[in-house]
Amino acid sequence: MTTPTPRPFNFSAGPAALPEEVLQTAAAEMLDWHGSGMSVMEMSHRGAEFISIYEKAERDLRRLLAVPQNYRILFMQGGGIGENAIVPLNLSRAGVVDFVLTGSWSQKSQKEAGKYATSRVAASAEASGFTEIPNPASWQIDRDAAYLHICSNETIHGIEYQQLPDLKALGADIPLVIDCSSHIASRSIDWSRVGLAFAGAQKNLGPSGLTIVIVREDLVGHALAICPSAFNYELVAKNQSMYNTPPTWGIYVAGLVFDWVLRQQEGDLTGLAAIEARNIRKAAKLYAYLDGSGFYRNTVAPTARSRMNVPFFLADESRNADFLTGAKARGLLQLKGHKSVGGMRASIYNAMPEAGVDALIDYLREFEKSAA
Ligand SMILES: *Cc1c(COP(=O)(O)O)cnc(C)c1O
Repeated sequence: MTTPTPRPFNFSAGPAALPEEVLQTAAAEMLDWHGSGMSVMEMSHRGAEFISIYEKAERDLRRLLAVPQNYRILFMQGGGIGENAIVPLNLSRAGVVDFVLTGSWSQKSQKEAGKYATSRVAASAEASGFTEIPNPASWQIDRDAAYLHICSNETIHGIEYQQLPDLKALGADIPLVIDCSSHIASRSIDWSRVGLAFAGAQKNLGPSGLTIVIVREDLVGHALAICPSAFNYELVAKNQSMYNTPPTWGIYVAGLVFDWVLRQQEGDLTGLAAIEARNIRKAAKLYAYLDGSGFYRNTVAPTARSRMNVPFFLADESRNADFLTGAKARGLLQLKGHKSVGGMRASIYNAMPEAGVDALIDYLREFEKSAA
């Protein structure tokens, strides 16, 4: 097999770029996984081979994110949008559930939960055009709510919580649910503040089709009677994510990604700390360039800016198509912004090498000059 070298830098928001090394391993093992004579796609999920893949993936994810023992890791299907229904079906007890709206994803979640529970808005940044995170001290939390849901990284609006809210300190001793689809494994998670975290895999972990749910044990076992069995956390947990056939290929590739993250190095740092340090550096240089330029702008409050998704606008929007054509010609792919926001968006997940950010900045500089 020949590898086209070098591969372009892919800024897709998702499904997104994977580490090249992971793709190479998956390719090399495609026809015969570890002498089994089978592709991972052809294996029984109950066979010894796949069980070993699953167990390593679970163990590595637990280590990577320092998930405490009283949290269950579930490998499910349905994506982030599926979880918008699955979480209230399992956790709401048909009562009140609270949301903080910081962009399209939290808005979508709040709307969907209304089918199964009384879905409230505790705070919203809509008036700002979703360019900031409302100060947690101002949130109107229902102390009797079954949980409060936030999207900890808003993929479309480019907003990220730099610190998870401490609901207990805010006077509401209720579980925090986080949709961390687009920044999971890019930074550490303070589990003392989280009841449940979910993430679709296709941003930072692997192929679409796999959804990770990490849930505190005491929140499992309260599903509504109408909850589909395949989405009932208790059944999924009891059956080691094999109540139904799990997304085996997704678990395998995500497992390769966990292993890759654990092996990353930056100076004295390894694993998640190394990836996080690199992500901080990548985002800082891109925002610094955008802020220093008279031609590009990012409108998100600096304290709420995402390290993963960087939306930006050209001063002259009539040049958008030229910008994208020139980018593609240089091997900088999928920079078009989400249709609801417009402009451009550079998604710089874990798999984006620092050289990709440098190449983007070089292009931004050159395009700005040519547009002057
Ligand atoms: C991509 C994304 C989703 C949706 O995932 P699907 O797999 O399409 O259901 C949900 N939440 C966030 C924050 C996302 O980035």
